[in-house]
Amino acid sequence: MNTPQTSHTAEHEGSAAGAAPATSAVQAQHLPSVDRLLRQPEVAALVLDHGHTLVAAEARALLDSLRSRARAGELPAQALTPDALNQAMVDALQARLKPRLQRVLNLTGTVIHTNLGRALLADSALQHVMAMMAGPNNLEYDLASGGRGDRDTVVEELLCTLTGAEAATVVNNNAAAVLLTIAALARGREVIVSRGELVEIGGAFRMPDVMASAGATLVEVGTTNRTHPQDYERAITDKTALLMKVHTSNYAVQGFTSAVDEREIAVIAHGRGLPVATDLGSGALIDMAQWGLPAEPTPRQKIDSGCDVVTFSGDKLLGGPQAGLIVGSREAIGRIRKFPMKRALRMSKLPLAALEATLQLYLRPERLTQDLPTLRLLTRAQSAIQALAQQLLPEVAAAVAPRFSARTLDLQGQIGSGSLPVERLPSAGIALCPASRKGAGRALDELSDAFRHLPLPVIGRIRDNELLLDLRCLEDPLPFMRQLPLLAQALH
Ligand SMILES: *Cc1c(COP(=O)(O)O)cnc(C)c1O
Repeated sequence: MNTPQTSHTAEHEGSAAGAAPATSAVQAQHLPSVDRLLRQPEVAALVLDHGHTLVAAEARALLDSLRSRARAGELPAQALTPDALNQAMVDALQARLKPRLQRVLNLTGTVIHTNLGRALLADSALQHVMAMMAGPNNLEYDLASGGRGDRDTVVEELLCTLTGAEAATVVNNNAAAVLLTIAALARGREVIVSRGELVEIGGAFRMPDVMASAGATLVEVGTTNRTHPQDYERAITDKTALLMKVHTSNYAVQGFTSAVDEREIAVIAHGRGLPVATDLGSGALIDMAQWGLPAEPTPRQKIDSGCDVVTFSGDKLLGGPQAGLIVGSREAIGRIRKFPMKRALRMSKLPLAALEATLQLYLRPERLTQDLPTLRLLTRAQSAIQALAQQLLPEVAAAVAPRFSARTLDLQGQIGSGSLPVERLPSAGIALCPASRKGAGRALDELSDAFRHLPLPVIGRIRDNELLLDLRCLEDPLPFMRQLPLLAQALH
C-alpha cells in the first residue's frame, strides 16, 4: 500500500537532482485501462492465483485512486511503471485478504480478557472442533437407535458428573442462559432478587433489564449492603415464580454487609413450592483454592445447597468456548429446554464440540494445570515469569533504545472477565519508559502503537508513563522476540 507514496518521495528527491522527465506528474489519461493492467504479466499471474473477480475489483480501486492523484497533479510517472503497478496490486490484495480477526499477544496481565477473546482453547478442544467441523457428525442423531437425537446429550452427562446436577442444557452464552432461565420459569410473574446483587456485567447486561426482556417483574429486596432471610420471606406473594441469586462477579461489597446464601433461600423457597436459581457468572468447575488461587463458588456447591438452576459461562474460569451452561433439577431444566426461546439461543455445533472436549479435561483434574490453558496461565509461578522477564530484557532493551529504557519489574495481574475483581495475581514483566521527559506522553503512545502494529500485535498496558508488558500469558516467547527487529525499525 505504501509503494506509491514511497516512490512519490523518491521522485521529489529525484527532482532536486534534476532528473527531468521522470519527475513530471502524469495526467489521468495516461493511466492504463483495467484490462491492460490485468494483462500485464505479473498482474495476470495474480489473476491466475486469485481469480478475475477479486483482482479486477482491486485493479479498479487502484486505478481510481491513481486517477484522483493524477487529477490533483500529484502522480509521479514512477507510480505507473509495471513494477510499481504490480507492487501496488500485490499490496492491495494482501490488505484485502488480511482477516479482520487477528491473533494478538496478550501482555496486559489480565488472563481472561474479554476484549481479547477470553479463554484460550485446549489442544484437545481445538482438535475435536477441527475433526467435527470437517465432516458430518451425530449432532442431533442417536447412533444407538438411528432416530433423532438432542444436541444437549453431547454434554449433559458430563455436566451432571462434574456438577452433581440431575440435568443440564447449554446455550450460546451465560447472558442467554440467565435470560432463558428467567423467561422459562417466571415469564409474566415475579422474581425476587437482593438489591446487593443487581449487577451490570458490561455490554448492557444489567439484571433489571434482563428481567424486563424476559417478561418477568423484578422484586428487589434488602438494601445494597444487607439482605436478610425475612426480606425474601416477606416479598413472596402468589405472583412470585422464582427466587434468584446473582454472583457479584465484577465488584465486591465490603464492610457492613450481609447476604443470604443459597441454602437458606432454598429452604424458604422450597417451603413455598418455589424454585431457586443462581447465576454464578464465571463458574469455576472445581475448587481454585487447591492451586492457591482465590476461591470461587462452584456449581456443585450451589447444587448441593439446593439450587434448582445454576447458570455459568463457558469461556471464563471454565476455560472453554463461549457458552452458557445451565444445570439443575430435572424438573426445572425440562421446563427451560422446552421453552421456545431455547431454540433461538441454542448452541452451535462448533462451540459444542469445543465444550465437550474441554469438559472432558475435568475428568482428569490432576492434569488440568497442564492441559487447560486458562489454568496453566493462572497457575504459572511468579518466579518463572520473573526469569522469563530477565531473559528477554536485553533484546527488548536493545530494540527500543535509545528512545526508551527497559527494566524488569514485579507486577500485579488479574484473572479477568469480572472474575474475582479484588484479587491480584503476582506476576512480572518489562516496563518501557521514554528516555526523555519532554514529549513522554506522545512517545509512549507511539511505542504502544508500534507494538500494536506488529504483524502479531502486542497489547500491553500503560501506567504512570510506562508501557508495561506482563509476561504471564507469554508461554512461547519466540514469536514475540522474532518481531523485535521490526519494532526497532518502526521506532526509528
Ligand atoms: C459474565 C457474566 C454473565 C454473562 O456471561 P457471558 O457468558 O459473558 O454471556 C452473567 N452473569 C454474571 C454474574 C457474569 O459474571
